[in-house]
Amino acid sequence: MSLVLAAALALGLTACGGSTSAGNDDRPVVLTTFTVLADVAKNVAGDKLRVESITKVGAEIHGYEPTPGDIRKAAQADLILDNGLNLEVWFQQFVEGLDVPHAVVSEGVEPMPIAEDSYKGKPNPHAWMSPSNVQIYADNMAKAFAKLDPANAAVFEANASAYKAKLQEVKDYLASELKALPVQQRALVSCEGAFSYLTRDVGLKEVYIWAVNAEQQATPQQIARAIEYVKEHKVPAVFCESTVSNAPMMQVVEASGAKFGGVLYVDSLSEADGPVPTYLDLIRHDARTIAGALTGKTS
Ligand SMILES: [Zn+2]
Repeated sequence: MSLVLAAALALGLTACGGSTSAGNDDRPVVLTTFTVLADVAKNVAGDKLRVESITKVGAEIHGYEPTPGDIRKAAQADLILDNGLNLEVWFQQFVEGLDVPHAVVSEGVEPMPIAEDSYKGKPNPHAWMSPSNVQIYADNMAKAFAKLDPANAAVFEANASAYKAKLQEVKDYLASELKALPVQQRALVSCEGAFSYLTRDVGLKEVYIWAVNAEQQATPQQIARAIEYVKEHKVPAVFCESTVSNAPMMQVVEASGAKFGGVLYVDSLSEADGPVPTYLDLIRHDARTIAGALTGKTS
């Protein structure tokens, strides 16, 4: 890693520090580790900063391996934002050698531990799946941006609070829809255990087949356990995330009689012309899909 880093930095220096893709854009550059953070950051930054993501749309973010190009890009950034909570296991060594300010956007979020697998006891990284947590992210970003560009501190703060109001609407919508559901059926059954924080927000029980995507095995025992829960609690619908195969969950559907409630988006936004090009699209989509399928308002 250190050799790659050194080589990349050398390349960066010979490129005179200028970013080739930026043209005449001389706004400070904020680099985030993945697309969800980049979109939230854009909402807080408005047009005052240039925000980019290291990983691209659809990338596997848990086990990402940075390229020399990523490192070069990072060396030239003015601020780097990462999620923290162990999401970017590749990130630590990535920023270690760089002289770039860096902020962890999940600071202040109350972590929830992963319950099993080799990640047992470590914090669940998927804090952005909770609108409440992303309100904290927005505040942290506004603070970090104000340090970077003090003249626009008030703009960042105003942007953050407008954005936080939209997040609040999503949370309130989901919580109020779920009230129609008998308490024992209030469960979110998904493929990956990525919904600990969302379920905490709105009072759902979290059930999953496997804990973290990197462990994606879906053993017969894991599938059997999900089937058992769904049957016992008469959970009306189950879900799976867009980035993984839903085949194991279809076994749960077949064996339990629950319906497949739809695809949920978690680890990545879609392309601009896809179903969830922004984080608000993503969390609204998931909230509607979950509420609709569990309450039977959609088929
Ligand atoms: Zn994930």
